[in-house]
Formats: sequence, C-alpha cells, structure tokens
Amino acid sequence: MNFYTDNDSLKFHLTHPEMKKIAALKERGFADHGQYEDAPADADEAIENYDRVLQLVGDIAGDVIAPNAEEVDHVGPHIDNNSVVYAPGTRQNYDVLKQSGLFGISMPRKYHGLNFPYVPFIMTTEIISRADTGFGTIWSLQDCAETISSFADDAIKDKFLPRIYEGASCSMDLTEPDAGSDLQSVRLKATFDEANNCWRLNGVKRFITNGGADLHLVLARSEEGTNDGRGLSYYVYDRNDGGLTVRRLENKMGIKGSPTAELVFNNAPAYIVGERRLGLIKYVMTLMNDARLGVGSQSVGLCEAACREAVAYAAEREQFGQAIVNFPAVRDLLLAMRARTDAARTLLYETSRMVDTYKAYEAKGKIESDERADYKAAQRSADILTPLLKLSASEFANRNAYDCIQVHGGSGFMKEYACERLYRDARILSIYEGTSQLQVVAAMKGIANGAYIAKIAEYDARPIHSELEPLRELLRQATENYKALAEMANANAETDYDFRRMQTDVIASIIMGYLLIFDVERQLNGDESCKRSFMPSARFMCAHAHAESLRSVAMAKAYCK
Ligand SMILES: Cc1cc2nc3c(=O)[nH]c(=O)nc-3n(C[C@H](O)[C@H](O)[C@H](O)COP(=O)(O)OP(=O)(O)OC[C@H]3O[C@@H](n4cnc5c(N)ncnc54)[C@H](O)[C@@H]3O)c2cc1C
Repeated sequence: MNFYTDNDSLKFHLTHPEMKKIAALKERGFADHGQYEDAPADADEAIENYDRVLQLVGDIAGDVIAPNAEEVDHVGPHIDNNSVVYAPGTRQNYDVLKQSGLFGISMPRKYHGLNFPYVPFIMTTEIISRADTGFGTIWSLQDCAETISSFADDAIKDKFLPRIYEGASCSMDLTEPDAGSDLQSVRLKATFDEANNCWRLNGVKRFITNGGADLHLVLARSEEGTNDGRGLSYYVYDRNDGGLTVRRLENKMGIKGSPTAELVFNNAPAYIVGERRLGLIKYVMTLMNDARLGVGSQSVGLCEAACREAVAYAAEREQFGQAIVNFPAVRDLLLAMRARTDAARTLLYETSRMVDTYKAYEAKGKIESDERADYKAAQRSADILTPLLKLSASEFANRNAYDCIQVHGGSGFMKEYACERLYRDARILSIYEGTSQLQVVAAMKGIANGAYIAKIAEYDARPIHSELEPLRELLRQATENYKALAEMANANAETDYDFRRMQTDVIASIIMGYLLIFDVERQLNGDESCKRSFMPSARFMCAHAHAESLRSVAMAKAYCK
C-alpha cells in the first residue's frame, strides 16, 4: 500500500499553480543544476523530484510504519543505561527512512540535503502521521536542522547538519516544570566556561519529545539576573559530549511510541546558536512556527486515517439487513469527517506555501525592489494563518477521532480497532507546540489590526465560476456576521477571551471555506489530479462557517445582555 499514491489530494496540492514559483525561488534560479547530481534544471523537474520522493515515503509509510503502529503503541520505548531505546517497530521505521536517505531532505545540498521546500517536507509528515502519529513527531523533529541552518554560524552548521542527513535524531528542549505555555520563565542556566571556551548547561527540562536524541536544541537563561524572554539564548547540545541524564520517560495516554522525557543537564557543554538574548524572541519563535506547521500536518494525517478507518468499517458493518453506510446518519458523519480533512489540508498547504515563499526570499539574501511586496505579503499571510492552522487542524483531528469511534459503535471502544488508538493519539495535538488557547492569543493581533479581514477581502476579490457563487454568498454573510461580532467584542473588553475564541473559529472557517472554493474552481477549470470532487467538502465548510458565525453572534448578544 502506498500512502501517497492512494491519496491523490496530495498530488493536487503538490501541483498547485504557485508551486512552480516556489520551486524556482527555492532553487535560486536552478543555480545548483550541474553542480549536484539531483539538482533540477527547471520547476517541472523539481516538482517531479518531490513527487518521486513522496512516492518512496508513501511506500515506507504504507508498508512499514502503518503495520508497526499497533505493536509500537503496546511496547513503547524504555530507558537502558541512560539511553532511550525505541520500540523495535520504531527502530525499524527510523532505520528504513535513514537507509533511504530521507533525513534532512529540506537541508541545503551542501549538507547532503535535497533542498526541498516546506510543502513536500510537510507532506512527508502528513503521510507518516497517517501511518503512525507518534512516529510523525519523531520524524518532524528533523526540522531542527532548519533552525541550525538559518541561524547558526558556519562552524556549527558544518559540524551538525551532515549528521542529521546521516540520521542523527533531534529534540527541541524548551519546556520545564515551571515553564510551559509561558516560556519566558525558563530557568535552565547557561554559563560561559572561560577555561574550556564553551557554554555549560545546568537544569531540568520536562516533556521533551525524543529526549534521548543525539542532538538537542536547548532554550536556556544566559543572562544572570533576568527573568523575562530577553535573558534567554539558544544552544545546540551534542549527546556525545556527556552531562545529560534521562531521568524518566512519561507514561502517556497516546503517541506512546514517541518517547517523552525528563532531562537533567549537569554541566553539559553546548554551542550557542546565533546571538545571545535572541533565543526566545527570534529563534524559538521561528522554530515554534515551523513546529506548528508540523503539528498541523500530524493533525491532517490523523484526520485522514480516521476518515479511512470509518469509511471502511461503515461499508463492511451491516445492521437492519444493510451496510450502515446506507444510513443518512452515518453518511453525515463520514461527510463531515472528509470535509474537515479537506479543509484542514487546504489550509495546511496554503500556509506552507506562504512560509516557503517568504523563507525562500530571505534565503536569497538580497530581496529586489520588485520582489518586496510579494515577500511581505507572504510573510504576513504565514504569520496570521499559522495559528489558525494549528488551532483548527488539531481540533478537527480530535473531532474526527471522536466521530470515527461513533461510526464503529461499541467496537470502536475496544482495543482491537485502530480508532481507539487514533482517539488517544489525537488528544495531544491541541496541547503541544502551544495549546489551542495560546493559538487564539496568537491570532489576536491579526484580529485587532484587521489583517484577517484584509486576507478575506483578498480571497473574496478572486474571480470564481458561477456555480460557486452561492457558496461565496454564504461566506460573505458569515463575514458580515463576523464584523458584527468584532464590534461587540471591542465594546466588551471584560469577556475578551470568549469573544476572541469565537472570532478566531469563525475567521478560520471562513478562510477554509474560501480555500475549498478555490480548490473546486481548479477542478472546474480542468485540473484532474484529484479524481474526487472537493465540492461536498466546500459546501460543508461554507455552511459551517455561516452557521458558526450566526451562533457566535447569538452567543455574543447573550453575553452582552
Ligand atoms: C506528549 C508531549 C510532548 C511534548 N513535547 C515537547 C517537546 O518536544 N519540547 C518541549 O519543549 N515541550 C514539549 N511538550 C510540552 C508542551 O509544549 C507543553 O505541555 C504545552 O506547551 C503546555 O504547557 P503546560 O503543559 O505547562 O501547560 P500550562 O502552560 O500550565 O497550561 C495549562 C492550561 O492553561 C492554559 N493557559 C496557559 N496560559 C494561558 C494564557 N496566556 N491564555 C490562555 N490560556 C492559557 C493552557 O491553554 C492550558 O489549558 C510536550 C508535551 C507533551 C504532553
């Protein structure tokens, strides 16, 4: 089974019209062609390369990772002699991907990477997370390479990036017992050791995914006497250098194959990444935004897995003399699950394209004056879409997992069916990399300065097929309702959070509605890369946005009384 080729909506997003521009930007006018064996000559060749690698990942996901998922969930990792030992299935997954040369695919070719943009990299995480969401967390941590590549000096890049290609595992060590959502309170201490000309780390980190990793990116307090984010710097720590104890592994409800560790750093030597004091303000913020794309893709992968489990069961299970899929109540559940998956996916790849565009401009070094507007627009869009993606995709994954069990009836409550595991695995998605509540906080700026309304106006101005007009009309009404909601919110500061949550949910639904309309528009204009029509999902999401806006206005009026 191939988890890429059996899901042609992935090819649909991979061949989005913007992808040629992204490939050309990422390849800096295809300057590597002729210097490296795999460097493409043009955008078509670049997209063919992405497609080929995705086919390989799809094979591994379908034939190795998915069949291992159940056993990995039962066995899990353990600590042996201060090392984290993966479950045998996890080890096999890791080794097959490593032997296939797939680690570090988005790194520059100089470091043996394939120089892939985010869209295909994020797609690999979606595909792998469909097979096993817990393993998706381990896989996506290779994105730590991006932080090193963007901000570390050349000596650190030369030392660590080739190791990531060779399969060195990575972790992102931010959270501490007293610093979770509030990372400004991080206390793990970094002091400069003059005698040995290196930094030393001392303190505890908690809830660290892949905490037994070879390479760690660690947020630490370098400036004595400070207690806010401006006293924090960022470090890369090499496990081979000693000074780290894996104190315990958490006993979790889900993603059980993914080790979550408590770590004690004891005079551990480390290298500083970039400049002092910019650890949280700049580097972690960038890494977290990337990681939120990662959780978005894990969520879409889980949405897809839940959809497929539910569809297969509904076709097979008979009651009252017929397959349960024939009952409208079951079909409605399946339609909603498919619509949430399509909606979260289209937002995932729209956000990824924006991230790709602005990062590729930045990587060029000099942004020409005729490119500046495109760069700025992409950066603004990435900033405002990322919290919506993390919020909506993770909540949808939870909802799909819930509905998947509902379709299974009593069997869904039993360990024998995958949906029980999906339900447990989904639960973390709306918590790590910033809880749903924190995504609403992150969206507030765009709500307050009108950036979301401007984005919706931009989408609304695009020409569409007449068949899609009724759907656009629903979104226009939802937008008017949103504006009424915003006015009430501005007049009622004391119920701030309730209003902001409603506003964020409505905005996210409207944006996903437009994106699905554009997907159908592409199909109506002859794009046949996905055989299945996105129309039912577009109808569902536009109606959902409209209903959500009405409900929110009614609730807001009740609050204001
Ligand atoms: C399985 C797992 C894997 C993880 N992997 C990693 C990892 O690899 N690296 C890493 O550094 N961390 C990791 N974490 C930590 C994770 O990112 C944090 O658990 C998460 O950010 C929440 O922090 P907390 O648990 O301290 O909750 P708290 O911050 O204590 O939050 C508790 C509640 O308060 C709410 N809240 C807090 N502040 C606000 C606010 N300002 N406004 C509104 N609501 C608020 C939250 O939404 C939540 O509902 C992992 C956690 C788990 C469970």
